[in-house]
Amino acid sequence: MSHVRRRTSLLAAGAALAVAGSLAVGPPTGASAAVAAHRGKQAVATGRGGAVSSVDLDASRAGIAVLRHGGNAIDSAVAVASTLGVTEPFVAGPGGGGFMVIYLARQHRVVTIDGRETCPSRCTQDLFLENGQPLPFEEARHSGLAVGVPGMVDTWGRAVHRYGRRSFAADLQPAIRRAQKGFRIDRTFREETQESLADLQAFTASRHLFLRHGNPLPLGSRLRNPDLARTYRLLATHGPRYLYSGPLARAIAQTVQHPPTWKGTPLTVRPGIMRRRDLKAYHVEQPAPTHVRYRGRDVYGMAPPSSGGSTTGEALNILSGYDMSGDRALALHHYLESLRYSFADRNRYVGDPDYVDVPLHGLLDPAYAATRRCLITDQAASSPVAPGNPYPPYAACPTSAAAGTTTPDHEQSTNNIVTADRWGNVVAYTNTIEHFAGTGMTVPGYGFLLNNEMTDFDFAPSSPDVPDVNLPAGGKIPRSSMNPTIVLRHGRPDFAVGSPGGATIITTVLQILLNHIDFGMSLEKAIAAPRVGNFNTPTSFAEQAFVDLPVAQTLESRYGQQFSVVSGITPLDSEIGAATGIRLLPHHRFRAAAEPVRRGGGSALVVDPG
Ligand code: GLU
Repeated sequence: MSHVRRRTSLLAAGAALAVAGSLAVGPPTGASAAVAAHRGKQAVATGRGGAVSSVDLDASRAGIAVLRHGGNAIDSAVAVASTLGVTEPFVAGPGGGGFMVIYLARQHRVVTIDGRETCPSRCTQDLFLENGQPLPFEEARHSGLAVGVPGMVDTWGRAVHRYGRRSFAADLQPAIRRAQKGFRIDRTFREETQESLADLQAFTASRHLFLRHGNPLPLGSRLRNPDLARTYRLLATHGPRYLYSGPLARAIAQTVQHPPTWKGTPLTVRPGIMRRRDLKAYHVEQPAPTHVRYRGRDVYGMAPPSSGGSTTGEALNILSGYDMSGDRALALHHYLESLRYSFADRNRYVGDPDYVDVPLHGLLDPAYAATRRCLITDQAASSPVAPGNPYPPYAACPTSAAAGTTTPDHEQSTNNIVTADRWGNVVAYTNTIEHFAGTGMTVPGYGFLLNNEMTDFDFAPSSPDVPDVNLPAGGKIPRSSMNPTIVLRHGRPDFAVGSPGGATIITTVLQILLNHIDFGMSLEKAIAAPRVGNFNTPTSFAEQAFVDLPVAQTLESRYGQQFSVVSGITPLDSEIGAATGIRLLPHHRFRAAAEPVRRGGGSALVVDPG
């Protein structure tokens, strides 16, 4: 077992694992940390009338207020997301993108919105190459090149227009009030600032808004954001497309093309290529959800360009062939091996389906999963294992000489929102500006940060022997791992869940599904449990609390599994994911669940706790 430090591209495709044991920072475990971190927040709530779970108390309250005032789960999700743009500006906001999965009770169907950022039209395969070499990741992340056309506001607009009960303007009101009034800086906010301090320091508008004399804002101080309040007011007045045309679009393109850097910054900030016409051309898409059956449930997720639904679906299909309710070590061995093979396929096949052929049918076909399951033995395979061939007719238990690739992992700088209403609608919405603080660039005068989502593309082919489906191109969307998931049982919503965490989003959501469905944990216990995942990597990545469990030792000694403990600069780097979920109970009751400790604890609320 070793300690692996996050934040650097340690898991860059094909790269050897780096070890930095002495740099490990302990996770914020223990009762005192838990109590201090969550003043006013609760990780579990049960009641009627609707429910909200998010990473932030103010945002969850905004969602509940909207449910109380005639809004449905869709209105509520938009209110939560826009408020997170205020209170969690380093992980959310109008400068980012995301994926929404919606269960519509009246129509009894699941729909999705793909509001992921696109690469500007001038983008080519060489986007991140200089003199034929890939840019160092740490330089690319704060460059204008990293900024994708933001899909967040168009997602909110589409969601409310098609499926909401209130107006877009009404749903933005809680966020406007919060931006105007401000909120208190807590420890998690300071840790998030610390994660991206150098990037924030590099941009004048970000220094003014998010720092004091170039340092993180003091604990307990108040952050007001009148610029963002004004931006939201403009959107409320003119509609969501205001972001994509007129003065706001001009300001975004100007910021990307001429990043307003602080003159004292030691960083090299490269300009980007986004133009106003790229913003004007942006529209969300609505692909069909992914769907698999698992132990009598229907699991719906996000289709490509996210790899969330396909990878979780393939792993669930593999696991369907095992009895997971018996020996826990054996079940977890199968869990890790199912991920190994599913990630090999994800890395080889999943990209933007408008640009590459994604064999989604095969990846989600139980018959294909059987050809992957039969490769699993009672010993951990050596990764990277090869991808399979998900084009029918499938070969029986094929071994392949093709090269497999591991998965690049970055951070967990995203958030997940789950909402449910009294009419039975449910929303799972994962959204992000990619890294903590995105590029670090605030749009001057508008109070929000621009994403660095284009760094989710491979900068160069990940292996000379493997076709790379995730290279940049004009209008293309980088592969995502975001995995908002809604599970139905007997045809009715059972629970919904999602998480941040880069590639660990997939393993986190899958582990929660197994904890809850197979291991019989309540949803809140399933969320709080220690995490581990494999990414077609030689070692599996785990929280310290997982490797401290006796079952981890059994996995090592009996099945040859090996673990690397995640750690890094701040306690946030010692955590995997920050999940949120809601269970729909009988008699129109809800149980909302959030993290008790990770990311400072999330906020689960219901409309009527009575
Ligand atoms: N950009 C990542 C993705 O789409 C999510 C970022 C994160 O969770 O840190 O997969």
